[in-house]
Amino acid sequence: MSKHTLEICFGCGLAKTACFCAKFKNIPTEDRVTIITTQTENKIRSNTGRWLHKMLENSKVIYLGDENWEAEVEAEKKNASFYPILFYPSPNSLMPREKRREVGKPFNIFLLDTGWRTARRWIYKKIFAEMPRLELKEEYESRYFLRSVPKANHLCSLQSLACLLVEINNSYLPAQNDLMNTMDIIVKKMATERGTKIKIDGEFY
Ligand SMILES: [Zn+2]
Repeated sequence: MSKHTLEICFGCGLAKTACFCAKFKNIPTEDRVTIITTQTENKIRSNTGRWLHKMLENSKVIYLGDENWEAEVEAEKKNASFYPILFYPSPNSLMPREKRREVGKPFNIFLLDTGWRTARRWIYKKIFAEMPRLELKEEYESRYFLRSVPKANHLCSLQSLACLLVEINNSYLPAQNDLMNTMDIIVKKMATERGTKIKIDGEFY
C-alpha cells in the first residue's frame, strides 16, 4: 500500500491498520489538566496533546479561536475544586511541590499545546497573562524523536506534563510511566510507518 492510500486514524494518528486508540489507558490524576490548543494543531497526526487528553481522565481540551473558547477558559478558572495555574516558564516561581503545598488544593494546569513561538504570543492574551505560573525545575532529555528540537530539554506537551506531574508529586510516577510508555510506543510506530530510520534507545525504528 502506498503512503497516499494509507487511511489514518485521527485519534492516535497512526494508520488505521495499526490504530492504538483502544489501548490508551485511562489515567486518573488528582490535578486537572486544561489543554489549550487549536483545531489546526489537533489535526497534526503526531500532536501529543491529543494523546494526553485520551489518557487523562481529569482533562479538558479548549480550542483557541472556537466561538466560546474564552468562556470555557473562564469556567475552568472558576472551578473552585482546583487552583488554576499556567504551565509556562517562570524563573521566579516556586518548586511545583512547594507551590502545591502553599495553595493547599489540586491544580488545574493550563497547558498551551502549541509551538514555543505561538505560546509566547498566547500568554499575552489577557485571559492568561495574569495567571500564576508553574514551570519544570529539572532538566530532561526529549523522547519525542519525531521532530528535531532546538535543545534537548525542549519537550513536547505530553512529556513536559508527565514530568511536571512527578515534580508536583512523586506518587505520580506510575502515571508518568504510563504516559511516557504510551508516547514511546506511538512514536516508534510512527517512525516505522514513515520509514525515517530513527534511533531510539540503541535500536532503529
Ligand atoms: Zn487510532
